[in-house]
Amino acid sequence: VLLFITRLISTLQGIKTSKSPPAVDPPLLDNHRHFPVGALRTDATAVSAAATDYGHIIHRRPAAVLHPSSVDDIVKLVNLAYDYNAHNHNNNSTSASLTVAARGRSHSVRGQAMAAANGVVVDMMRLRSARFNKNVNVVVSSSSKPGPYADVGGEALWINVLEAALRHGVAPVSWTDYLYLTVGGTLSNAGISGQTFRHGPQISNVHEMDVVTGTGKLVTCSPSTNANLFYAVLGGLGQFGIITRARIALRSAPKKVRWVRMLYSDFSAFTSDQERLITVHASSRKQEHDTSEVRNHNDGGGLELDYLEGSVMVDRGGPPSHWRSSFFPTSDAHRIVSLVAQHRVIYCLELAINSYTTNHHHLDMELERLLHGLSYVPGFAHSKDVSYVDFLDRVRGGELELQSRGLWEVPHPWLNLFVPKSRIAEFDSGVFKDIVLRRNVTTGPVLVYPMNRNKWDERTSAVIPAAAEEEDVFYTVGFLHSSGQEGWEEVEEQNREIVEFCERSGMGVKQYLAHYATTEEWARHFGPKWTRFRHRKSEFDPMKMLSPGQRIFN
Ligand code: FAD
Repeated sequence: VLLFITRLISTLQGIKTSKSPPAVDPPLLDNHRHFPVGALRTDATAVSAAATDYGHIIHRRPAAVLHPSSVDDIVKLVNLAYDYNAHNHNNNSTSASLTVAARGRSHSVRGQAMAAANGVVVDMMRLRSARFNKNVNVVVSSSSKPGPYADVGGEALWINVLEAALRHGVAPVSWTDYLYLTVGGTLSNAGISGQTFRHGPQISNVHEMDVVTGTGKLVTCSPSTNANLFYAVLGGLGQFGIITRARIALRSAPKKVRWVRMLYSDFSAFTSDQERLITVHASSRKQEHDTSEVRNHNDGGGLELDYLEGSVMVDRGGPPSHWRSSFFPTSDAHRIVSLVAQHRVIYCLELAINSYTTNHHHLDMELERLLHGLSYVPGFAHSKDVSYVDFLDRVRGGELELQSRGLWEVPHPWLNLFVPKSRIAEFDSGVFKDIVLRRNVTTGPVLVYPMNRNKWDERTSAVIPAAAEEEDVFYTVGFLHSSGQEGWEEVEEQNREIVEFCERSGMGVKQYLAHYATTEEWARHFGPKWTRFRHRKSEFDPMKMLSPGQRIFN
């Protein structure tokens, strides 16, 4: 493989090697013609940068890193790797196969975007630099189908998509909590947030994609053209191709958002209210499009509950301190700490009402109507009005603060689970009120919120819990730990205990952003979808060379 890479470096037309990384400073970003052509890099700087991710737990050094300046560079690399592997395969060579890993923002936490010594990492951030300002094309069509959309490079960050769309008064429909992730990276998982209950995950809001498959072909796919590839890639963990363009559904953008949080001491009251709200406020795709059409023409329009999440606060002997905790007025801090100390575990329901009008009176009335009949602890509801951008980009402030304190680039032993609704109470008593309290190592936010099953498309590769009879809702639970350099093993122990507890109880829990070490574990994870997943792999990446860091076939 190393020999091959050396040959590759010298033969790739238009791809030059260089010793030091090309400078990517803001003036260059504005002036594309100064960009160097893509480069296949083997120097220590490029290789070490590709050997780490947001998790800071796994470190793998690839043989080389491609800094593509165009989609052609990616097509060329995948073709050469395919030919190399096919040649070895046909000659029964014992050489390790050459792998190719797309690396988006590298905000995975378990090495999912890495490649080992027999692999090349494709640094999509370099493609972003090369195509910046040209990789988001917003189309607000006058016809109702498919409605407004944006053609977006797989390497684009969601914040860029938002900014470009807002210039046309529109915005994507479905989000992640944090916007500095690539479109290709989140579509390879699912892309979930408080809007998922209503619009589905991000993978339910894509019309079309361009994908470089594992056979080196650049293929356009959609629900009507190359549909099998389209659904394979969505939630496909990078296994079937590299997304170079996605057509993202948009709708008219609200003017502002009323953002509300309420505290609960009783888990059953908390989940009943969450479920009631997402059931009442989930509208069908058809209605959704109709409404956005109306809003395009009549901006006097309405208000809508468009976001619902929830979180858990566990008594650790002080105020909660993480990037999602600063919401209630500081004058309330003492009362909240007392509430947590009294109950040991409390819950926070969070929602946002989109407003398409500047009329405050409407918002006040809508909020009153929404809160009526909810069972939060009296006196523990707080709301504020923010711009739509500030709401969607709410995690950024916390990130910048943690960065300034050197607390962002630390180990992140995250655990994300999808829990069937019928088992969520058992999860509360066995995990939050037992394991988490007993171990007392939880740092960072713990999210808990429900989603509607019918907003997920079964044809995609994403895995959600099996549907128990008449169970239309399941929960996501995210332990978004950030540890000191020393403490993460203890958190991993807690993660293991939680997973074992769920397995022992037969809860039918599925991991989101899953990580496993063996093919057998992946087969169990995919369950009935495993056979189809394997077949799709044979069809679109027969040399099994894409995204080896997921450790599914490698
Ligand atoms: P990477 O980590 O670079 O890649 C992830 C996987 O996708 C790898 O296997 C990689 O090979 C593959 N890949 C990357 N680009 C492409 C491409 N163009 N084509 C095909 N495959 C590709 N997730 C949510 O759903 N909701 C959230 O609210 C949320 N919040 C987050 C907040 C933070 C602070 C962080 C760190 C992560 C969060 N995530 C969330 C998880 C995040 O969505 C995933 O980790 C996602 O993969 C990150 O995107 P990325 O661009 O960093 O992908």
